[in-house]
Amino acid sequence: MSEGDLRTLPVRNPRTGEIDLTLTVASAAEVAQKAARLRENQKAWGAMPLPARIGIMQRFLGEVAKRKDAIAEADAADTGGCHTSYLQGFITMGTIGGWIEDAQAALDKAGYEGPSKAMPSVSVRTQFVPYPLVSVIGPWNAPMMLVLLDAIPALFAGCAVLIKASEVTPRWVEALFEAVKQVPELAGVFDYVHGDGSTGQAMIDESDLVCFTGSVPTGRKIAVQCAQRLIPCYLELGGKDPVIVTADADLERATTAVLRGGVHANGMVCFSVERIYVARAIHDDFVKLLVEKAQKVRLNCDNPRAGHLHPFTFAPQADIVAKQLADAVAAGATILTGGEVETIHGGLYMRPTVVTGVNHEMALMKDETFGPILPVMPFDTVEEAIALANDTEFGLTANVIAGSDEDALAIGLQVNAGSVFMQDTFLTFAKNRTVGSNSFGVSGVGGGSRTGPEAILRYVRRKALLTQHGAPADIQDDHHLGRH
Ligand code: NAD
Repeated sequence: MSEGDLRTLPVRNPRTGEIDLTLTVASAAEVAQKAARLRENQKAWGAMPLPARIGIMQRFLGEVAKRKDAIAEADAADTGGCHTSYLQGFITMGTIGGWIEDAQAALDKAGYEGPSKAMPSVSVRTQFVPYPLVSVIGPWNAPMMLVLLDAIPALFAGCAVLIKASEVTPRWVEALFEAVKQVPELAGVFDYVHGDGSTGQAMIDESDLVCFTGSVPTGRKIAVQCAQRLIPCYLELGGKDPVIVTADADLERATTAVLRGGVHANGMVCFSVERIYVARAIHDDFVKLLVEKAQKVRLNCDNPRAGHLHPFTFAPQADIVAKQLADAVAAGATILTGGEVETIHGGLYMRPTVVTGVNHEMALMKDETFGPILPVMPFDTVEEAIALANDTEFGLTANVIAGSDEDALAIGLQVNAGSVFMQDTFLTFAKNRTVGSNSFGVSGVGGGSRTGPEAILRYVRRKALLTQHGAPADIQDDHHLGRH
């Protein structure tokens, strides 16, 4: 298709199954035009002292607050009514407010001003220079939260930011930009395009840095394109996150935490619990209680604000989940509850599904599932459980539930994952403003951390400025250098 053609994409409503939106795909020329405008405006934005940018972001926070309900409704329309969507207005306010509090201190902590340790006659100071244009490309799960997790600190850092939501979940963008429009200085450096992978590729061609959240195969393509351009990219990819439940774990605690960790947001969370390893001594009791609790979980098919599980946001994901389950059953697994894709009012739903008789030959225990599936496998020794947890190409998060906090920690120290949640699951939100972490394996690539106050350092180049206050070294004295 030529550049001049208008290309459109149908957007399916996850609750009704109907196409109720048509997206116009941004062409490469449109992306380049927006990038040029952002780049021009970034010069003043990046040169502004941080307190001035913070003042502007404070106004943005006020505009988001006025529209928090509309933002939440738009995100919920995208996801099909995920619980977290209804909190998205508050979550966005929290992200902006958190950086208002943390940005200055994070940069101060990473900077230096003082004498050189190696050459005391030389003074050293740090300057942080933002990457001019950052592109943020997002997935269809937690669509707004995951784009803003990168876009907001990049704006605080002084970058201009161009975002693209997943073509599956684009509705939240206009709702957010109603708030952006009210803050003209911000609107000059923060913009969006709609489209699919081709639009994403065009963005990369125009960017100085790329933040991507999505699948491993797409991440690989983006890494190659960024490598060709020699620009940095941060890739936040999938997971196949384990939980280890030891023999003396409290069964009530373990089943409650595992159920929520596996099926919250219909299991369509990168850090969902997708592999459950339970000590053989308590396996049967654990499974019985897990099934009982799973059967009490309700679908939100009649009222998106009531019930616990929303429909599959992306319809083809239901087929992926169904195929993994069918293959596992064909290889000997047993579904104890759930397991059917149910079409209700046009939406595709699945109830929490407990599966036993699984092993590491099955895709269900190897590949990302992204559905409300709880596959349980017994283990005999803690060493075996750790080996099973580490038998994966991923390493986003992991979970341990043991008889004591000390026992859980001893196991957590041996599991390969960017974050290990102990005596609970889903503690990611406790981590966000507090510490950074790095994923293991293919779950995340690019170094630095997306969370914690140091995340802002991803968006700046650290420049060192050094001044010699003593006499410059004389070429005649160079032979002395080796003796020091
Ligand atoms: P996806 O890889 O299919 O698409 C993500 C985005 O990439 C979309 O906006 C898409 O248009 C764009 N894209 C596609 N091809 C591209 C290309 N060649 N160049 C540039 N952009 C391109 O992912 P998805 O299915 O939307 O998201 C689900 C995946 O995201 C899951 O694997 C999940 O685990 C992962 N995820 C990871 C995290 C994390 O923090 N690690 C968080 C949430 C989701």
